[in-house]
Amino acid sequence: MSDAALIDGKATAEALRARIAAAVATLPEPPGLAVVLVGEDPASQVYVRNKARQTHEAGMRSFEHRLPVTTSQGELLDLVARLNADPAVDGILVQLPLPSRIDANAVIEAIDPAKDVDGFHPMNTGRLAAGLPGLVPCTPLGCLMLARSVRPDLSGLEAVVVGRSNIVGKPMAQLLLAESCTVTIAHSRTRDLAEVCRRADILVAAVGRPRMIEGSWIKPGAVVIDVGINRVAAPDLGEGKTRLVGDVDFAGARERAGAITPVPGGVGPMTIACLLRNTLQAACRRRGWAAPD
Ligand code: NDP
Repeated sequence: MSDAALIDGKATAEALRARIAAAVATLPEPPGLAVVLVGEDPASQVYVRNKARQTHEAGMRSFEHRLPVTTSQGELLDLVARLNADPAVDGILVQLPLPSRIDANAVIEAIDPAKDVDGFHPMNTGRLAAGLPGLVPCTPLGCLMLARSVRPDLSGLEAVVVGRSNIVGKPMAQLLLAESCTVTIAHSRTRDLAEVCRRADILVAAVGRPRMIEGSWIKPGAVVIDVGINRVAAPDLGEGKTRLVGDVDFAGARERAGAITPVPGGVGPMTIACLLRNTLQAACRRRGWAAPD
């Protein structure tokens, strides 16, 4: 089989952000997104900076709250309560991971579900499971958009999601079920993962293990969505150098798949674009503005 088509997440995310910016420009007021960062985790700082930049570029207001690592759970809950009550704030995102002293679930449950643009509040996860409108987690939503960019009709296809986290695997499976796929969720206890993967017309890998999914596990012609972001040593680039790779052995999988997302440049760029989409949607629902599609 010839090489799989590359699914260009960067271009798809750019196009989505442009559509969001155009919709925002028609609104009476700009939607507002509040991002809360506790501590100084370097990766989280980069994410928060990128989120703020792209929020501004889409014509929205960005409210950044950087709290010291010593912040107590009570102080964080007080801030969430203030943001819930602030009419200028349409979306609230508390950057994870939080310091281990703070109960992340308690913080997520304190966010007003109508402003929960990460889609992690049990009200929103429940609405997703029940097939009701709500706010959907950004990374799986981006994965679904990428899969549909190459297979607009997913109905009846066999989908395998490897990984069952609350932020990626489980909501991904719900979204694929809502598209009428036959969905299997695989995880660390799954027996014969290779055979399970070989059934997949749509394979989503969200494991966090570099190149774990081998090329020979891919059904010929499958759509492969690689969520994994893993930094590995790259001695070919020079001593001490590293590169990002996915959970899928890209070179092997590309020989069999019909279409595949690269890492980087696949799922990653879609996550913030979907966050902006959720903020726009939350603003429209809360303020009674006509919702964009
Ligand atoms: P988690 O660590 O929360 O979950 C990993 C899942 O993989 C678990 O369900 C685990 O199973 C499963 N797993 C682990 N080892 C195996 C194995 N050997 N075989 C089968 N399944 C296994 O990770 P996340 O869901 O948060 O993230 C997954 C990946 O996606 C990471 O690389 C992360 O960096 C990336 N990511 C990328 C984003 C993006 O924007 N592109 C956003 C979020 C995450 P079990 O439950 O049994 O332990």
